[in-house]
Amino acid sequence: MQGLMMQQPLLVASLLMHAERHHGEQEIVSCRVEGDVHRYRYRDLAQRARRMANVLASLGIAPGERVGTLAWNGYRHMELYFAVSGSGAVLHTLNPRLHIDQLSYIIEHAEDRVVFFDMTFLPLIERIAARVTSPKVFVAMTDRANMPQAFSHSSTLMCYEDLIDLHGDAFEWPLLDENSASSLCYTSGTTGNPKGVLYSHRSTVLHTYAAALPDSLNCSARDVILPVVPMFHVNAWGLPYIACMVGAKLVLPGPALDGKSLYRLIETEQVTLSAGVPTVWQGLLSHVAEQGGSFSSMRRTLIGGAPCPTAMTVEFQERYHVDVLHAWGMTELSPVGTVCSFKMHQTTLACHARYALQAKQGRSVFGIDMKIAGPDGEELPWDGHATGDLFVRGHWVTRQYFGGDDAPPLRDGWFPTGDVAKIDSDGFMQITDRSKDVIKSGGEWISSVDIENAACLHPHVAMAVCIAARHPKWDERPLLLISTRPGSTLTGDELLAFFDDKIAKWWKPDAVIFVDSVPLGATGKVLKHQLRERYANYYVSA
Ligand code: ADP
Repeated sequence: MQGLMMQQPLLVASLLMHAERHHGEQEIVSCRVEGDVHRYRYRDLAQRARRMANVLASLGIAPGERVGTLAWNGYRHMELYFAVSGSGAVLHTLNPRLHIDQLSYIIEHAEDRVVFFDMTFLPLIERIAARVTSPKVFVAMTDRANMPQAFSHSSTLMCYEDLIDLHGDAFEWPLLDENSASSLCYTSGTTGNPKGVLYSHRSTVLHTYAAALPDSLNCSARDVILPVVPMFHVNAWGLPYIACMVGAKLVLPGPALDGKSLYRLIETEQVTLSAGVPTVWQGLLSHVAEQGGSFSSMRRTLIGGAPCPTAMTVEFQERYHVDVLHAWGMTELSPVGTVCSFKMHQTTLACHARYALQAKQGRSVFGIDMKIAGPDGEELPWDGHATGDLFVRGHWVTRQYFGGDDAPPLRDGWFPTGDVAKIDSDGFMQITDRSKDVIKSGGEWISSVDIENAACLHPHVAMAVCIAARHPKWDERPLLLISTRPGSTLTGDELLAFFDDKIAKWWKPDAVIFVDSVPLGATGKVLKHQLRERYANYYVSA
């Protein structure tokens, strides 16, 4: 027997329609590339998104065609999020930190018809325009006064605000198939060519529901949300959609992501929840510590994309009374997979046990199932010790990469994440490594993440990266690279002695190298493979 409920497709545009109707007065604040702060309301966002949908129709963008964006977090990017997907086209967010070869590859591979860009990226766009053939039109996301005098390429350059002014806001969001594509994001491709993940309206809306829940990101109409995670990466962890769903005030930081700018924004706009990768928070924490400042409104910060060092959790929570929400996800998962929120019996844990728990990436949100498996594919127990390859499946997990040139990645219906993890009896997953970063010493695995975590507990350590280096006796041994805080006199021996009660003796790195900085990739993560290449023979040649 069929149920007798209405059948309404789950569509991205419905999030915006809801925000306009029920939270029309709520504010969206954007730091603009032009240098000033822009404010408007959800009502204005919805109206301008409809105008932009008319612009896209006038440019001849057909349903399913890709529209690229190369832009910071700002209101115009938000308008494109909804105008493009809402009108049936596919929003393709481009990561400006990728190498130009990769960007050109991605634009051609996705066959982007139009590319919208923030003025910061004009020089990059000019170089890209000379290499790619698919986009015929480039749109500068600015007004007439800030338009460049000339565009050194034969493609057409248009002005965003001119286009908006030319079109009215009468537009009916089409009733699309909820399984049709809404947006596209390429993995950063640390190995091989980047791969496209094509999200659907249904997967996006379901992800939005689940990620907003109290035990997920815990978002409400009383929140002021600052996504520092860029909107060019994995739909900025769902926050642009979540903000519309719950009617939160949204603060979009634009290009200035340094500690000083972020701190000023957090305080001025009274941000309650922020989200970003650990390297961004490092900058913020250093700035606030130097100023002797505090957070007057921020209550929670979502940290993901890379392991959150315990030292960072301690600093946020004990010094500033800001709760850390450690989360794990990936491009292929839209991205949220697990969030580390406590279960009832964990709320009374002693301090050290609580921090040990918060170092874990957390438990599944509804909609994602996970398992760990050994080398023969056999499922491993959730005992907090067994370590294996992490697999996931669920409503917002990709089943095939865009373009179909790669074999479908699934194994028996599960997506192999490329992460190595353990899961405890409460269902909390902890990543010990990415499979390609694992250190295999004498046939046993050593967790680089645990060593980095232990090193970061030392007050003089600013950043720690542990990699495998070839070893004549043990195949591989851990090698630790450290950047220290200003004024530090830390030595390698002191740091190794510091590990005594923190990690197993045989896990201790055989050497510590002090470096000024470490290479960061397009999403702010440490490029371990570069360091592995550089130091691969450190123990062999030493
Ligand atoms: P890529 O860096 O390959 O482009 P993503 O940006 O999608 O891919 O990142 C996904 C990967 O980032 C995960 O597979 C995992 O290795 C890592 N990651 C994400 N969140 C965390 C976390 N909280 N702790 C540890 N690793 C994480």
